[in-house]
Amino acid sequence: MVDFEPNNDVDMIKRSIDGFLEQEIEPLEKKHEDILTPDYRKLRDDGRLKDEVVDIIKTVRRKSGEAGYWAMHMPEDVGGGGMNIVDLVDILQHIYSKGLGLNEHLIENTPGPHPTLLEMDDSLKDEYLYPLIEGKKDGCFALTEGSSGSDALNMSTTAEKDGDEWVIDGSKMWITNSPYADFVQVFAVTDPDAGPGGVSSFLVDADNPGFTVTRVIDTIELDGMHAELDFTNCRVPDTNVIGEVGSGFYTAMEQINYGRARIAARCAGLMEFLLEECVEYANSRTSWDRPIGKRQHVRGMIADIAVWQETVENLALKTAWLIEQGENPIKVSAMAKYYATETLFQAADNAVQVFGGNGLSLDYPLERVFRYARTLRIPEGTSEMQKERIADEVGLGSGIK
Ligand SMILES: Cc1cc2nc3c(=O)[nH]c(=O)nc-3n(C[C@H](O)[C@H](O)[C@H](O)COP(=O)(O)OP(=O)(O)OC[C@H]3O[C@@H](n4cnc5c(N)ncnc54)[C@H](O)[C@@H]3O)c2cc1C
Repeated sequence: MVDFEPNNDVDMIKRSIDGFLEQEIEPLEKKHEDILTPDYRKLRDDGRLKDEVVDIIKTVRRKSGEAGYWAMHMPEDVGGGGMNIVDLVDILQHIYSKGLGLNEHLIENTPGPHPTLLEMDDSLKDEYLYPLIEGKKDGCFALTEGSSGSDALNMSTTAEKDGDEWVIDGSKMWITNSPYADFVQVFAVTDPDAGPGGVSSFLVDADNPGFTVTRVIDTIELDGMHAELDFTNCRVPDTNVIGEVGSGFYTAMEQINYGRARIAARCAGLMEFLLEECVEYANSRTSWDRPIGKRQHVRGMIADIAVWQETVENLALKTAWLIEQGENPIKVSAMAKYYATETLFQAADNAVQVFGGNGLSLDYPLERVFRYARTLRIPEGTSEMQKERIADEVGLGSGIK
């Protein structure tokens, strides 16, 4: 059975995170307010984050590493906190209930340490895994290409063996954190006839001469985080294969439920934030001498956010709990990702509406959540791909091909 009892250890960690945010992160946000908000101030003309902003983000990751939050979900034997996924979901929700600011960098998925990297060769761990766990280095996860997104297996990037090296050629698209990452985990075809078993994953240093960040992609998120990458005659030693040759795609797919639970947790937290903002605003803003929170239409918009928040929180926790039981909750995790991102978008739209003109203003924190919410319906499997999966799981069979 799923246990709804509050977990005292997790409550203690949440309180310690609150203290950390107050003492370490909020002062940074205040000090650098002029370049951190609104979002467009963070960016250079070419779409990249300004160097000072990159330094601030890396400082948050390092401080979070020192405080033990950045890798709390990684196993203890590699220096992580050994936290289970249910507790992680609860904590992620708590972090995102503060809204979107530097708190986003306290614990991140692909820029930070994630389980697929545990399979790297032991000889690489001192240089990559441990500094990553400590928050001293960060990475990125390069699977998608310009012409293969949902159908990731259709990738064109190849890696060919040449003596004791692999030579990677191709390009990748949309890769989060790649312009600033110390290394890339890149996926390439090593055997074109082997389908999913023909894809391998490699570790490439950002200063490898065969690797270039071609351009940063400007998006509505205005976060300067996503880029197009080029690999031309990019040579890496045999030891840089992560896991076995041919295991790359399977390893990536093993993390799919985990990634969806994490996204749903973020959405549940952001809806908590929106709810709190809306209640406070609706209780204080008046029209015709009455708080707008007494108006039926406004109450309805806020009540919907509350319902979506509660439902998403439960879906995220159920997905996490099933993973923890050793199950492969492919249907529930697809429902969680789909429902969480779709309702977060509706919730953000409602919140903007409750705030009236102020909801659209860069002086308020809602428009940012709105842009972020719009984005989340696409990465880590679009809403349509989740619905395809759900339809398949309820008995309609695959509609993909
Ligand atoms: C902000 C952001 C960050 C990202 N970060 C990363 C990252 O770090 N690493 C990485 O590797 N990738 C990353 N991605 C890429 C992301 O995973 C892809 O954008 C996503 O998988 C969708 O692929 P696509 O954009 O090529 O859209 P497409 O696959 O071209 O889809 C276009 C439309 O067609 C629909 N569609 C496609 N096929 C089907 C089908 N069979 N049935 C029904 N509908 C279908 C889709 O749902 C969508 O509506 C990121 C993307 C974004 C936007």
